[in-house]
Parts: sequence; structure tokens; C-alpha cells
Amino acid sequence: MIILRNSEELKTWIERHRSSGKTIGFVPTMGALHEGHISLVRQSKLENDVTIVSVFVNPTQFNNPEDLKKYPRTEEADGQLLEQAGVEVVFFPTVETIYPEGQKSTHFNFQGIENQMEGKFRPGHFDGVATVVQKFFEIVQPDRAYFGEKDFQQLRIIQELVKQKRLPLQIVPVAIMRESDGLAMSSRNTRLSQDMRKEAPNIYQILQKAKVFLEDHSVEETKEFVSEAFSKTKLKLEYFEIADESTLESVSTNSDSRKIRGFIAVFADDIRLIDNISLN
Ligand code: AMP
Repeated sequence: MIILRNSEELKTWIERHRSSGKTIGFVPTMGALHEGHISLVRQSKLENDVTIVSVFVNPTQFNNPEDLKKYPRTEEADGQLLEQAGVEVVFFPTVETIYPEGQKSTHFNFQGIENQMEGKFRPGHFDGVATVVQKFFEIVQPDRAYFGEKDFQQLRIIQELVKQKRLPLQIVPVAIMRESDGLAMSSRNTRLSQDMRKEAPNIYQILQKAKVFLEDHSVEETKEFVSEAFSKTKLKLEYFEIADESTLESVSTNSDSRKIRGFIAVFADDIRLIDNISLN
């Protein structure tokens, strides 16, 4: 595995491999890697000749400066995990490499998808995400790029970005990896206190109960059920929404004609965790 920090070096490496007919899989990450990230790498390795992983904590997608400051950074361990996973190249750019003209994002319009849920609670977040992913796609020009369903709204945003800009690559969604107690793997989990780590599995447990509850209750009643369930835990519910998987607009009734999903954000002390579950 080679480690590159400079985008020109990366472009040269990619050009050499592309001209010999190799396909390129790309996995963008913010580091503090865990099995969830590695599942994206495994999928890419199955489908491409070479796999490139970027590790970059993107400042423009953080609406909360404290969250950016406290975001875990574990470069050495990340390198080891990626090497074991059989990645060909890891790209660790500096902020100046990605943002030579200052840390600014482009404003995007994704037909309203960007204004739901995470977009409402984290203003500017998806502009930052789409800006950095577009920059990475320009540098890497992958055949396929891998995104986790853990960040389902982000995945939808990137699918729209590719459609809107007519980018010649395939976006491959990857299922959520969970700890054995159901907690969705996340780099932020390492920041949980012992007490909150014990509370956090409630998120997925309540999502699963909500799925069963919705079978014979209304959307409104299910939202109340979830809100009440969290009031009995130490976690603080920020939102629970039931939304159309494609538009991400909230639905008020459960119908079989469209795919719907439950989306959730909670605070465990000051650590914000998200998760989602397919509901039909
Ligand atoms: P991050 O480093 O948090 O920006 O995540 C990088 C990529 O890994 C994103 O596409 C995430 O959706 C994906 N990812 C993070 N956690 C998980 C997980 N538990 N299961 C599957 N994919 C994940």
C-alpha cells in the first residue's frame, strides 16, 4: 500500500493504472476507521482492480466548530487497517491541498433533499459534503465510489450530484455495519462515556420496535411512540422522521407504493449519533 498526500502524485499514479486498463474503486472517509468503513473497502475490492481510500476530515461540512475540533484522528491506526484490508492507495491530503483558495463550499440545489432532516439540523452540512466529494471525484475519477447507508441522506445527495453533473461513475450503496448490540458503527462512538455506550444501543432497539409498531399504527402515533421511548433513556432525541427513501420528504401515511425509512438523530451527552431503518 502506498500513502500519498499530494493530489498531483495521486493523479499520476491513477493515470498509470487507468492507462493499463485497470478499474478504480474509491472510498471517501474522514478516518478513525472501523469495520463499517472496511465493509466499503471489501465491496470495492470485489468490484474493482484497485481501491483508493481517502482520509480527510472535511472542515466545510462541520456546522459545529467543537465537533470538528473533537473529531477523532487516528492516522497511524487507519493506515494499518487499510493495509490489512488490502487497499492499494491511501490519500491523506492536507486542508490546503483540498481548499487552496480557502475553506469555502459551493452551494448546491438537490431538489429539496438537502433541506430535510440533517440539512435542517446541520445548516451548510451537505454543501460541504457535496463540495468535497466533487473535488475528490475530479482528482480520482473512479469507476465506482462506495457510500454507506449509515449516512443515507448523504448517499442520496451524492447520487443526485452524480446525476446532476452527469459524472461517469457508479455510486454503490453499502449496508449499515453494526456492533453486536445493534449500535451502528461510527467514528463518534469512541467518544462515548462508558455510561452512554451502554445507553446507545437503545437507538437501534427503538427503531426496530418502531418498525413493528408502525404495522398497526399511524405515522403520527409511531413518532409519539419513539419520542416516549427515548424519554425513558438518557439519550436526547433530536428528530425521528419517517420519510420517502427517494425524495426524503416526510410521509404522513404508510403506503406500499413507495419505500419508506425511519431516520433518527440523538444526542448522547454532546455526541450526536444518527441511524436509520428500512420500514417496508
Ligand atoms: P465517515 O468517515 O463517517 O465520513 O464515513 C465514510 C463512509 O463510511 C461513508 O460513506 C459512511 O456512510 C460509511 N460508513 C460509516 N459508518 C458506517 C457503518 N456503520 N456501516 C456502513 N457504512 C458506514
